[in-house]
Amino acid sequence: MRPVSAFISRRALDVDASGIRKVFDLAAKLKDPINLSIGLPDFDVPEPAKRAAIEAILAGHNRYTQTQGIAPLRERVHRDLSAEMGRDVGDVLITSGVSGGLLLAILSIIDPGDEAVFLDPYFVMYKHMVTMAGGTSVLVDSYPHFRFDADQVQRAITPRTKLLILNSPSNPTGIVMTEQEVRDAVDVARRNDLLIITDEIYEPFLYSDASGKRPKLPSPGRHYDKTIILRGFSKSHAMTGWRLGYAVGPEAIIQQMTKLQQYTYICAPSPLQYAALAALDLPMQDAVNAYQQKRDLVCNRLRGKFTFTQPEGAFYVFVQAPAGRLGTDFVAQAIEHNVLIIPGNVFSDKNTHFRISYATTNEKLIAGCDILNALA
Ligand code: PMP
Repeated sequence: MRPVSAFISRRALDVDASGIRKVFDLAAKLKDPINLSIGLPDFDVPEPAKRAAIEAILAGHNRYTQTQGIAPLRERVHRDLSAEMGRDVGDVLITSGVSGGLLLAILSIIDPGDEAVFLDPYFVMYKHMVTMAGGTSVLVDSYPHFRFDADQVQRAITPRTKLLILNSPSNPTGIVMTEQEVRDAVDVARRNDLLIITDEIYEPFLYSDASGKRPKLPSPGRHYDKTIILRGFSKSHAMTGWRLGYAVGPEAIIQQMTKLQQYTYICAPSPLQYAALAALDLPMQDAVNAYQQKRDLVCNRLRGKFTFTQPEGAFYVFVQAPAGRLGTDFVAQAIEHNVLIIPGNVFSDKNTHFRISYATTNEKLIAGCDILNALA
């Protein structure tokens, strides 16, 4: 007789979540931590979107929708993104969060042995999903400035490379690719005949420069039609629990993703798709401005004691651990002092940094930064 553990698939065993589990174990011992680890906005879903969700439920929108999502939401996304990208962006699939879109895209593209290239540090799911698909993640070291360097990326490409994954604004670094970097990425993709997945979930969280003008996100979707654009509502409208996102791109890929969605998720949550349509009309700039102030608050407080690259978007700072200390050691010490942060090796092959999320109250940010400074 086999023990139950012998039934576990190679696929599941190959996904290593030990780094983050250790943090959660340490964190579970804390009563009321200063939590600088959370990847979701500290504001709630806007009132009109909540009302639209309730009305959709009362109106009976409680059954499966079409696999690809409700037509008015798909049409709206297609119109908005095509206007933004300056070209017809292709097909639209409403997904269960950007994670749903990522998984379906990777499953539709990656065969065993295929390689996907992305920068290190990276958003954790990319590596694990590529592993689940049987592929190999090829990481391009982007320390210490976390910028996209086309020559370095070119060197990572082999005949097995199929996919370049970009994430701007980035989790965990908060870096936003410049227009030039995006054009360089597109050149690399064109030259090597690669698909691009661009994870733009933090698109609304772009911080203005000194002029106060809100910048536009440079996107490969503007220049390259072999691009799959992933965006969602989790961060923009604080709907992480609603599980809504969308994938936009070439018909041949979106069709495969739709087929896989049909046999996995079936569809994104029905009433919430109607509410998301209403949410697209809500102004969120005040929330983004508040986050820019939080970014400034944290950076100003940590600047004397810590080394980091100033984030330009999202709500994270990726900070170097004090000289000679491992990221994991410094995080363990911070947790002992009631501050919850994430070690950089959860997002990276290196164990030199830690990630702060500033998606919390200013009081907690000030208290947390004071403790981190005292430990440096
Ligand atoms: N991409 C990035 C870069 C993220 O940070 C997250 C959430 N932490 C996701 C995708 C997944 O978001 P969701 O599935 O909630 O849309």
